[in-house]
Amino acid sequence: MKFSELGLSQEILDAISAHGYEEATPIQEKTIPLTLAGKDVIGQAQTGTGKTAAFGLPILEHIDLNNPNIQAVIISPTRELAIQTADELSKLGHDKHVNVQVVFGGSDIRRQIQNLKSHPQILVGTPGRLLDHINRRTVKLDHVKTLVLDEADEMLNMGFLDDIEAIIAKTPAVRQTLLFSATMPAPIKRIGLQFMTDPETVKIEAKQLTTDLVDQYFVRVRENEKFDAMTRIIDVQAPSLGIVFARTKRRVEELARGLEARGYKAAGLHGDLTQQMRSRVLGQFKSHEINLLVATDVAARGLDVKDVSHVYNYDIPQDPESYVHRIGRTGRAGATGTSVTFVAPNEMDYLRAIEDLTKKRMTPLKPATLAEARLGKIKAATGEVSQLVKSVDVADMQTQVDELTQQYSAQELAAALLADVAGLDKQNAPVEISRERPLPRRRGGGNRGGYRGHRNGNGRRGGGGYRGRSNDRRDGNRGGYNGRGRQDRRDHRSNGGGGKRREFTVREK
Ligand code: ADP
Ligand code: MG
Repeated sequence: MKFSELGLSQEILDAISAHGYEEATPIQEKTIPLTLAGKDVIGQAQTGTGKTAAFGLPILEHIDLNNPNIQAVIISPTRELAIQTADELSKLGHDKHVNVQVVFGGSDIRRQIQNLKSHPQILVGTPGRLLDHINRRTVKLDHVKTLVLDEADEMLNMGFLDDIEAIIAKTPAVRQTLLFSATMPAPIKRIGLQFMTDPETVKIEAKQLTTDLVDQYFVRVRENEKFDAMTRIIDVQAPSLGIVFARTKRRVEELARGLEARGYKAAGLHGDLTQQMRSRVLGQFKSHEINLLVATDVAARGLDVKDVSHVYNYDIPQDPESYVHRIGRTGRAGATGTSVTFVAPNEMDYLRAIEDLTKKRMTPLKPATLAEARLGKIKAATGEVSQLVKSVDVADMQTQVDELTQQYSAQELAAALLADVAGLDKQNAPVEISRERPLPRRRGGGNRGGYRGHRNGNGRRGGGGYRGRSNDRRDGNRGGYNGRGRQDRRDHRSNGGGGKRREFTVREK
């Protein structure tokens, strides 16, 4: 549907076309008229479907430039998402001269205070830092007309709830509240409803992504053979841009280092990195300087990186909905993608739960042999060798070239060059990956497909958990909260039973 049919003004429509958007996405088409009419809206659609503009455009439309107060506040779970959202709104609001500012933890608060003095009409932020500013009175929300919880399932799920409640308490009781998310489990929705008045729910089914656009494979492999299995499959598939998902921060670190040791251009992304490091890693990934990004779920959440060709689930996600988020990193904007999930034999029930949710069977993939992997590496190196040949000048090294060509055949020289460019010597580099506590055995039987039951059943998420996590917060570092506490907790929890190191060796098949 055309944006012009949705009731937006010419000024905003011009900005939309300047931004290169031609047609509204389904979530935009369904929610924009409701939001423009002032309704509270719960908008659910898979990642990468334009939810930012879905809530952003009506907000921009409603901004009164003569009003110097913050009129809309958008709460985001991570710094990157907050920045990404603020960027998108700034661009779309550029013609209207809307001032958008962003605040997040782990960054100089004085500079943010300075920026806030410019009287933004829209403020985007992470919960901890927003609250910090509210308490310092550098942010006042008493003129807010619209409040958005982006990635609402995350925001209402984990340790953010206290902060969210405190922030909402500072906004006027009469306001518009919008919840946008890729998933909306019932218990989370129930919490969200408390902050809303008579909301309309718009849900765009996620069938296209998981069924049509991503080729989904799984490899059944023992935990101690996973790293070899993954690197060999990477060699065969030669991803142009791939994301490797790992369950914990320690895993992210170890996998990134292991991949580097084996000659891949890889880096890790997780909540413990400084903002500067995270930006650098993301920049390198977007510019293809590295082509494998290793990340935790939270670090990769909602990030909009184009052209991700492959997603590797080194650890199968415990929560089937995370799987949908993860593979949503590829197959974006109509492009096709490939995902490979590595599953330990005792984790097969988790695989089935994912299949129940996506309504699609994954294709079993045999682990590649070392020989197949070598061949993959060599094939990938061939192109690079051609580039190299074009880039060197024989005249620069005539004597040594003559020496080598007398001594060896062209074939031998080409083979040596290929082996070197392919990094075959690194293929067997020993890599040590610490053991993580295995996932608890999923209960089968009556609960098949009942992923919500599973969440509650394992005691990590769901009803009682919220309160438990609030306590975490109280004895935690309130003041020094940096917008990533939630991930820290999640990672530490999953780390609980780990610790024991084990040697990881490569066996020739
Ligand atoms: P989500 O929040 O649903 O994950 P985003 O808002 O991050 O999705 O949007 C994903 C990408 O799609 C962004 O690069 C955004 O600029 C782009 N996009 C959004 N709306 C449109 C549209 N109507 N047409 C084309 N591209 C769009
Ligand atoms: Mg989003």
